[in-house]
Amino acid sequence: MAEQVMEEKVTVLISEEEVDRRVREIAKKISEDYAGKSVRLVCVLKGSVFFTCELAKRITVPVTMDFISCSSYGNGTESMGRVKITKDLDEPVKDKHVIVIEDIVDSGRTLNSLLALLSTRKPASLRLCTLLDKPDRREVDVKVDYTGFQIENKFVVGYGMDFDQKYRNLPFVGVLEKE
Ligand code: 5GP
Repeated sequence: MAEQVMEEKVTVLISEEEVDRRVREIAKKISEDYAGKSVRLVCVLKGSVFFTCELAKRITVPVTMDFISCSSYGNGTESMGRVKITKDLDEPVKDKHVIVIEDIVDSGRTLNSLLALLSTRKPASLRLCTLLDKPDRREVDVKVDYTGFQIENKFVVGYGMDFDQKYRNLPFVGVLEKE
């Protein structure tokens, strides 16, 4: 029997120009908020890579960058909202003004746990910046300080975000549809 192949189609949700414009606005706001200070951008791998880099290029206060990678524990423990760090930061964040950069806040579990973990390391301040927010999907409370766009509950790819490791390189945010 012939194997049925599922077709995937990506349609533009937020264009390259719109993302670019919003990234500049957020970078301006961060530069104003942190005037006279320097910021440590903590990029949550891998989906936030493009966003972090584009943002960093446009922030006018001194910037340092570090990278962290985490995955949720499976099943039972996942429901406790715990994350497993699969690649930790290279540098301590103690006394640093840290901004965690995320691609998308969905249930909020990953960020909730990650922020709790980072706060135990005594940064001078700790804020969260996300490109996308799906508020309808929230299960745990997360205070988001900078949001690019609020979106509906659709599965998005592009601008760093993947499906099965594909589509990260798309310059826009698109909705993945399967036919
Ligand atoms: P949360 O812990 O908030 O439920 O999950 C956030 C993470 O789930 C994001 O960092 C991202 O990796 C993944 N995620 C949630 N929604 C989407 C989506 O629409 N597209 C993609 N590519 N990843 C998503």
